[in-house]
Amino acid sequence: MTPLRDLLTRGTPSFSFEFFPPKTEAGLRTLWQAVRRVEALAPSFVSVTYGAGGASRDRTVEVTQRIAAETTLRPVAHLTAVGHSVDELRHIIGQYADAGVRDVLALRGDPPGDPNAPWVPHPQGLRHAHELVSLVRASGDFTVGVAAFPERHPRSPDWDSEVRHFVAKCRAGADYALTQMFFRVEDYLRLRERVEAAGCTTPIIPAIMPATDARQITRFAQLSHATFPEDLATRLEQARGNPQAGHRIGVDHATAMADRLLAEGAPGLHYITLNRCGATVEIHRTIQNRTRSAHAFATAR
Ligand code: FAD
Repeated sequence: MTPLRDLLTRGTPSFSFEFFPPKTEAGLRTLWQAVRRVEALAPSFVSVTYGAGGASRDRTVEVTQRIAAETTLRPVAHLTAVGHSVDELRHIIGQYADAGVRDVLALRGDPPGDPNAPWVPHPQGLRHAHELVSLVRASGDFTVGVAAFPERHPRSPDWDSEVRHFVAKCRAGADYALTQMFFRVEDYLRLRERVEAAGCTTPIIPAIMPATDARQITRFAQLSHATFPEDLATRLEQARGNPQAGHRIGVDHATAMADRLLAEGAPGLHYITLNRCGATVEIHRTIQNRTRSAHAFATAR
């Protein structure tokens, strides 16, 4: 398989899907249905988020290893520094290497329980994501991704420090970045401009997260601090109780964003599925049908 860092410099946009490790057997079945469905599209990669602690972390490792062993997909393992010593992080990275996983998204993570609580690093651990980037790079031939925030990380006091620390992650060896979910294309474009003005050209892949239900709005705001456009919120409110109408509104909004992001030169699209990929696969199919060739996107091989 072509290393992801090489795939991302070919000039054709990547497309990828994000999953999370489920807690239950039923959740696992839903996840695998989604995994098999996106496998048929031959995406550039799929990513698996890292849990806040304990069993959910083991599930991340298990799901990622299983995707590597049992599918044709390229799994990208999210990894956070939360609650881990450097030795523990090395052990997890080693587990991935042994399973043939060569792609890690290096993140600092948030305090478990209350993500807004003060950040306290593990006494033998790492303080910031750039240190994890260096650790993963020093541990083998990994392609390393990092997080980017179109509306600024909620803890960053200003854009200067946000951009400075983002660029530090790239200089530490990050090959690409994936963004937090966002709902206004301008936020992505401004972030990219700021990063480029600081002399950094690391590809920043935008996240596409279709919001198809008014009940999701508050939850998304809590999770991501992303600003939800008022007109989209109003239309979803009006469609409350009508899942088909909500689906149409969310999918159309996200498809229009994806279209414009590609037209603005975004290096790919990263679809957040929440393990139910109906909406994101529909968006991708629409976008792909609008491009002239089925090979307009970079597949894993
Ligand atoms: P950092 O890059 O370390 O930044 C955190 C804050 O510290 C920022 O304000 C930054 O400006 C500042 N900072 C960085 N370096 C320094 C420095 N040297 N000195 C002072 N300040 C500094 N969380 C999970 O738990 N599991 C996941 O799977 C997961 N996946 C994610 C995927 C994506 C695409 C994104 C965008 C986020 C994800 N998160 C995940 C959430 C992420 O862990 C949190 O948002 C976390 O608070 C920030 O992580 P980071 O890697 O950006 O940290």
